[in-house]
Amino acid sequence: MAMPSPQERFPPALSFLLPCPNCGPRDVNEFVCAGEVTQRPARDPSPRELAAYVYFRRNVAGVQREWWYHRSGCRSWFLAERDTRTNRVLATSLPEGSEGAPGQASGGDGVTTTADGVAGQAGLH
Ligand SMILES: [Zn+2]
Repeated sequence: MAMPSPQERFPPALSFLLPCPNCGPRDVNEFVCAGEVTQRPARDPSPRELAAYVYFRRNVAGVQREWWYHRSGCRSWFLAERDTRTNRVLATSLPEGSEGAPGQASGGDGVTTTADGVAGQAGLH
């Protein structure tokens, strides 16, 4: 049995550009992904609803809305639409007021940045 090559033992780290709504395109290693956006259950959820919220994810093979945190930059939470098959980021935006980020109580002003760096006021759908 042959020894694996250094490239096989230490594959290159995953990297792609992620456009932060505040800072613009940056290496993805500056960010932390907090996973797909989930819908918080209504007040006083049943144990089943609570378990589904905590443990179940859609895990789509395609475009998914996710929470990201710019750890090595502006330290802001924001939303991104990312194709999980290709890591292509279609758009990013600061959360609206009703969309509580995982690490903060209130959101931003809703500015959207596309992968091309064009900014607008449209929210994610
Ligand atoms: Zn940033």
